[in-house]
Amino acid sequence: MSTFQIDFGGAPSKVVGIDLGTTNSLVAYMDLTGPRVLGPIVPSVVAVRADGTFAVGEEARALLLTAPDRAVYSAKRLMGRGVEDIQEELKLFPFHVSGGTESVIRLQVGEKTMTPPEVGAQVLRKLKEQAEAELGETVSQAVVTVPAYFNDAQRQATKDSGRIAGLDVLRLVNEPTAAALAYGLDKRNEGTIAVYDLGGGTFDVSILKLHDGIFEVLATNGDTHLGGDDIDNLLIRIALEDIASEWGQDIAGNQEAVQLLRRNVIAAKEQLSFAPLTTIELDYQGRQYKRELTRELLEKLITPIVDRTLGPCRACLKDAGLTVEQIDEVVLVGGSTRIPLVRHAVRNLFKAEPHTELNPDEVVALGAAVQAGVLAGDVADTLLLDVTPLSLGIETMGGVVAKLIHRNSTIPASVTEQFTTSIDGQRNVLIHVLQGERELVKDCRSLARFELKDLPPLPAGLARIEVKFMIDANGILQVTARDARSGQETTVEVKPSYGLTDEQVEAMIMESITHAEDDFRERQVREARVEADNMLLAIEKAKQNEAWFTLPEAERDEATRALNELLMVYHSDDHHLILAHIEKLNQATMSLAENMMNTAVQGALRGTKID
Ligand code: ADP
Ligand code: MG
Repeated sequence: MSTFQIDFGGAPSKVVGIDLGTTNSLVAYMDLTGPRVLGPIVPSVVAVRADGTFAVGEEARALLLTAPDRAVYSAKRLMGRGVEDIQEELKLFPFHVSGGTESVIRLQVGEKTMTPPEVGAQVLRKLKEQAEAELGETVSQAVVTVPAYFNDAQRQATKDSGRIAGLDVLRLVNEPTAAALAYGLDKRNEGTIAVYDLGGGTFDVSILKLHDGIFEVLATNGDTHLGGDDIDNLLIRIALEDIASEWGQDIAGNQEAVQLLRRNVIAAKEQLSFAPLTTIELDYQGRQYKRELTRELLEKLITPIVDRTLGPCRACLKDAGLTVEQIDEVVLVGGSTRIPLVRHAVRNLFKAEPHTELNPDEVVALGAAVQAGVLAGDVADTLLLDVTPLSLGIETMGGVVAKLIHRNSTIPASVTEQFTTSIDGQRNVLIHVLQGERELVKDCRSLARFELKDLPPLPAGLARIEVKFMIDANGILQVTARDARSGQETTVEVKPSYGLTDEQVEAMIMESITHAEDDFRERQVREARVEADNMLLAIEKAKQNEAWFTLPEAERDEATRALNELLMVYHSDDHHLILAHIEKLNQATMSLAENMMNTAVQGALRGTKID
């Protein structure tokens, strides 16, 4: 066992898939057997404990009951949004916004102020740790899902969350696309897919079109305030009325009692998805409340809530220009689609049997893991997705790149920007199309050059040149330059990722990070130290193994020397130096590792004989 710890193959970092949800989040990983969830579901709740440290998930949810001012939930609603955008949310959720400018929201959580991406980062960090514990190694790269309707700012904020959590977000994938991927629907190559996602507090419906293995989001619709919470609130209200008439006491104002009731009501609701009958109970200050609830009654009660999802579904079909008959597959997502009545309603509306083979609250994370597996190179087939992996732009004065389409933009995409001339009487303009994340032309990849010729001569700065970038669903880029005055235009078609492997794309992203972030170096150092820790620990263990004592003395001396050297450079901030000494120690303990493997095998054989 410990021989493995000594053997440092320098395996590439694993890439996980993460569903960062409004109510719940989870992390999954793709291995040879397929995608699987790592660790339990984490409620997307963050709290600040009395000692100032963070609690995330179940513990934070518990704190939400006893110290609501110290906890925040549903923070995804605030991601990438300005103070004006969130007035509706503020009416419905107990967010304590503590000032901030229009562009940055700050929340008061206990003594701390946090931006929404920081709240998200706490959840991501927890998932990262969970993944690391299960995989037994550090995880620094992830694919994270976002709702299909998330705009650029919301996507950017999600990526910021990742960065804060020490995760390089290699790609953002739309939640419905991830769900379709989890079901392997990309294999069918062509078709239309409806994804119905009823979660805790939000309802989303999306229609995807799949052609040549590429997903395109045709339309999305939904209700940002509709989900399982509405069912919970309804049941709580009924129970409170019951209690008031039974006990002759209105406990609606008693936070603690209501929260206790909430927990029990949710449990009862979830049971009724599998059982025909359950009870709602409350034990409070020596008094007992108990009421039977049948699935039949629950269905009657929640029919209006379920029906509220149907309008957005019809609107979505209409926006996509499709009839229900043209939908080939229906996918259910979100914990609330476990409810049989919901499944029934979806089946009726789409006149098709929805996919339910996978757990609806896991399916998005599983799909993210599939995409992660592709990026990590663990999955053989290449898979085209609905985002551009690298930014696209043109060269401007001083060898600088003006980005028109940013990395991770969903495709198809189209952006037009205005440029002008820099020389008096300039007749020709050179358009140089580039791809990459760096600021300077020399650091990006040149995709195409073309000229817009015979412009009417004008003083510098007066001409208006419109440059339009269009990427179609196949990832093909078309660039058009047009002189607004004469209407003259030239178009070229380039294929942005032609010839680039995923590894190269990743290398370019990593390179941009190296130069853009001051903390990247520190991260490398920290990672090197983690690796050193593992190595030192493994050697420490190995020294207690009999294999250590059977080594020739010279080898033991050399290993000890290498170990001491590693200890000496351990605190240096040069990660190359640390890695070099890890490698040296690795070399010096090579035969130790081999011997240990032998003794382990011998031990095992001895064991068999005795048995
Ligand atoms: P989100 O995507 O909004 O973060 P989820 O997809 O995890 O959240 O859905 C959470 C909701 O699903 C909660 O309201 C929860 O009560 C509900 N839920 C989970 N399991 C069941 C079940 N067995 N029956 C009914 N509702 C369920
Ligand atoms: Mg969800």
